[in-house]
Amino acid sequence: MGPPRRVDHVAGGRGHVAGAAYSHRVSNLEQRPQEMSCGGVAVAVRDLSPELLEPREVPLGGPRAMLVRRTLPHRDRRMVGAWCFVDHYGPDDVADGPGMQVPPHPHLGLQTVSWLVEGDVLHRDSIGTTQLVRPGELNLMTAGRAISHSEESPARRSPRLHGVQLWVALPDRDRHVEPDFAHHADLPVVSVDGAMVTIVMGEFGGALSPARTYTPLLGADVVLAAGARSQLPLDGGFEHAVLALSDGLVVDDVPVSRGAMLVLPAGRRDVELISDGPGRVLLLGGEPFEEELLMWWNFVGRDHEEMIEARADWEAGRRFGTVRGYDGAPLAAPPLPTTRLHPRPRLRPRPTD
Ligand code: MN
Repeated sequence: MGPPRRVDHVAGGRGHVAGAAYSHRVSNLEQRPQEMSCGGVAVAVRDLSPELLEPREVPLGGPRAMLVRRTLPHRDRRMVGAWCFVDHYGPDDVADGPGMQVPPHPHLGLQTVSWLVEGDVLHRDSIGTTQLVRPGELNLMTAGRAISHSEESPARRSPRLHGVQLWVALPDRDRHVEPDFAHHADLPVVSVDGAMVTIVMGEFGGALSPARTYTPLLGADVVLAAGARSQLPLDGGFEHAVLALSDGLVVDDVPVSRGAMLVLPAGRRDVELISDGPGRVLLLGGEPFEEELLMWWNFVGRDHEEMIEARADWEAGRRFGTVRGYDGAPLAAPPLPTTRLHPRPRLRPRPTD
């Protein structure tokens, strides 16, 4: 195995990215998000060497907002399996100040996976859910055709907050399912070569998460003892990513700093994790996602017209329902992108006479 390619973020997009900015965050507060094309087998299997993705820091909200570290989507890697969005935040001191405050905002075409290492986050949504999530528990929201939600640090809260917010793209056949919310507080935990692995999504080490998935997928939280060296088996049909949640980690001989991600191409049968001190990683995986997607703001769709319609529906109070109980106004949608992806011909061929 050769050395990994180091890939750093730049401010502007290129390749499949139209426009100058990436468009997604836990809740996207960006002023002018542009559309981004994701998925497709050409992206998924274009390279066989591991890829080290450095995160970029993105403020979540206003001037006193939390900073999150984003590794997906990345300029050179849009997805790992159906995982299309990865934000890592903390550990932050949230004893004072607003903590996490994400006002009501819409989603479609995806699932959101909320997973904490420390602290607590209160979720509310438009299908009537109010649910606190704590470490070791999964909040899984399936947006399907439309949902809206808010996320906040509760008034009485743990002083520290550390976690991830992930999105899973839904395949075309399922992306219009009815919205759903599930809280899983009893996930399977297995010990594999000295590592304690909680199976958040999918199957690992002979144990299966009860969480509903729509494509072959893995999400696992891995705890390593200080000085550990663990070899974890991988599904050869999946591509994988190891997201470092702690310092001092080495993944397949590559040092991976906290917040960074090492992507392993499909075909790998195992991965070696070494940790200096007590270690923690998130192992993500899935079958390469072959459908082409379009992501804009908090939406995962297939074409520009869909984004126009979704934005209009949110602004008009249609389709996405109402989140009750959040102390604050819903997020306004940003302006539509000025550049459209996959533009359709302005003049359609005329039928022959
Ligand atoms: Mn959200």
